[in-house]
Amino acid sequence: STPGGPKAREEKIVVTVRLRPLNKREQLAKDQVAWECVDDHTIVHKPSPQERVPQPASFTFDKVFGPSCLTETVYEGVKNVALSALMGINATIFAYGQTSSGKTYTMRGITENAVNDIYNHIMNTPERDFTIKISGLEIYNENVRDLLNSESGRNLKLLDDPEKGTVVEKLVEERVNNDQHLRHLISICEAQRQVGETALNDTSSRSHQILRLTIESTLRENSDCVRSFVASLNFVDLAGSERASQTQTDGARLREGCHINLSLMTLTTVIRKLSVGKRSGHIPYRDSKLTRILQHSLGGNARTAIICTLSPALSHFEQSRNTLFFATRAK
Ligand code: ADP
Ligand code: MG
Repeated sequence: STPGGPKAREEKIVVTVRLRPLNKREQLAKDQVAWECVDDHTIVHKPSPQERVPQPASFTFDKVFGPSCLTETVYEGVKNVALSALMGINATIFAYGQTSSGKTYTMRGITENAVNDIYNHIMNTPERDFTIKISGLEIYNENVRDLLNSESGRNLKLLDDPEKGTVVEKLVEERVNNDQHLRHLISICEAQRQVGETALNDTSSRSHQILRLTIESTLRENSDCVRSFVASLNFVDLAGSERASQTQTDGARLREGCHINLSLMTLTTVIRKLSVGKRSGHIPYRDSKLTRILQHSLGGNARTAIICTLSPALSHFEQSRNTLFFATRAK
């Protein structure tokens, strides 16, 4: 499609923000709530009485979800992106935020809701035959690991396929029989990711997880037009955004310098370029494993949603503000 054409509006990246409640640990530490959702679109910094110089900040987005919102509600904000994969349009849903802000919690719920919706759609669309496949992978330190096959090692190669684009060598793609089976396969990926966490200290904050559904469908009994759709739907639980530390200001940047995560840095650059609508300019997909793998599910005709997760705690103020800056640049 052409820039500024009729589809331009739809292609906009959907950016939403989810603010979680204070957790037990934060409550016990008498941490303060530093952010408040004042309406469906606006999140503001609430200066606490201790802050002598209040830092005024207000951010506006497509949708903002407060601490009492259920994941079901958050899902409503990205549902159209997920369901476009049923119509042959590649789609990606990300959770972006610092460690402990609620990315995994949110993505699990989003995936669950999407699985339900997909199977409802299949039930209600008897005129089409659907085939669903799933793969799961983790990127840790630019090494790719198969979450459905623990035997395949920690450093799978990326290959350039003339038809499919970038593919992960030897990555298992399991054909799904039904919704139960799909939930089972997703739980295997999650369990496998946790195995990695205990083996390597701190992986969950440094690794990216991609669950990819490939959804194919064909119209039945129509001799004139056998219309086939195929698309990927990616659920991406990103590494903690504190790893994209170039966005940090002042001295923290030097301290964190060694933790910069190439895939996360490259993704933020790619998203920023896509969001300003630069279709012609160079988009550095090839600079990291994450962006190579997702290239065909980002930009172009693909649809993208980013859920930015935030801790409300005053102790996380800087990181939350960085997440909101990222979210602002992405929309
Ligand atoms: P991350 O993946 O960003 O590191 P998690 O998803 O593991 O963070 O969340 C950190 C903790 O906060 C977990 O115990 C999780 O259950 C809890 N949590 C996250 N988001 C919410 C929420 N919206 N409501 C209630 N609890 C949440
Ligand atoms: Mg997590």
